[in-house]
Amino acid sequence: MTQHISVIGYPLKHSLSPAFQQVALDYYRLDIRYATWETEAENLPSAISLLRRPENLGASVTVPYKEAVLRLIDEADDLASSIGAVNTIVNREGKLVGFNTDAVGFLQALHEDAGLAAVDKRATILGAGGAARAIAFALLQERVALLAIVNRTVARAQSLADFLTKSAVAKGMQTEVLALPWQDPRVQETVRHCHLIVNCTTLGMKYSPQQNRSPLAAGLIPKGALVYDLVYNPSATPLLRMAREAGADTLGGLPMLVYQGAAAFKLWTGREAPLDIMLRAANQAMFGTGGEG
Ligand code: NAP
Repeated sequence: MTQHISVIGYPLKHSLSPAFQQVALDYYRLDIRYATWETEAENLPSAISLLRRPENLGASVTVPYKEAVLRLIDEADDLASSIGAVNTIVNREGKLVGFNTDAVGFLQALHEDAGLAAVDKRATILGAGGAARAIAFALLQERVALLAIVNRTVARAQSLADFLTKSAVAKGMQTEVLALPWQDPRVQETVRHCHLIVNCTTLGMKYSPQQNRSPLAAGLIPKGALVYDLVYNPSATPLLRMAREAGADTLGGLPMLVYQGAAAFKLWTGREAPLDIMLRAANQAMFGTGGEG
């Protein structure tokens, strides 16, 4: 019986996951198809419940459902529960178990592709959705000195900041955590003095209503900071273009996408992900070449 894994989100035209997951499945000659399930919000519960069928091994979960699926699955592992967001679901004989591989994928790219150790650094996270929760949690674990969460909906930023503060206190960490709405005058000062700025909003994402938009104005980006955009399509997002002009270092979302996908691959199949092959396929799908373009 052919088995299936799907990516569930909306919109999904931008997704590169099918390109690099299918080559990894084919590498092991597994009879598994990786498919795109573009799902509107009202259909999310029925899409998740379809995953319980024996032919479905699980799913990747993306924008905007990483938090919402927590209520629709049977259990989540400790990390996903702590983060409050799930990006990978595994069907274990009809029981749906949630995981979060965004945190590990984010850190792997930060360390290996940007060469940055976050300890004692000042970081600003733009956004407070499912991805932001994982990234904030990962940076807290790395013992950053400051974590500023800037978000359009301030209640969402505040709830994430409260959770981070509680985690920091429980672990005896000194990290300062701030929740700021975009219009707060402290945003400019905070961003200007940051070592690391991570875009976890959908601004700049191709095929979304926010494509061609940058979350920050050029004048705010500090020279020498690392600007890390989780948006991976297009590769040169408006934010990354501005950051380069401002003299900042930049990192796009493609390496993280592949690393988090490789961790998910292992959860679904129990096999080591063929990382080189996946990276080549992602680059091929993005740039039409096997190398970074
Ligand atoms: P999400 O849960 O839907 O959160 C979206 C975030 O964007 C929220 O903070 C939202 O603010 C903000 N936002 C949306 N429209 C906005 C606007 N017009 N103005 C200002 N803020 C706006 O999505 P997610 O799962 O966190 O994903 C966020 C982005 O990260 C997506 O582009 C996704 O593709 C990318 N991502 C990449 C990777 C990777 O591996 N590279 C992994 C995960 C996610 P409100 O709270 O105010 O709505």
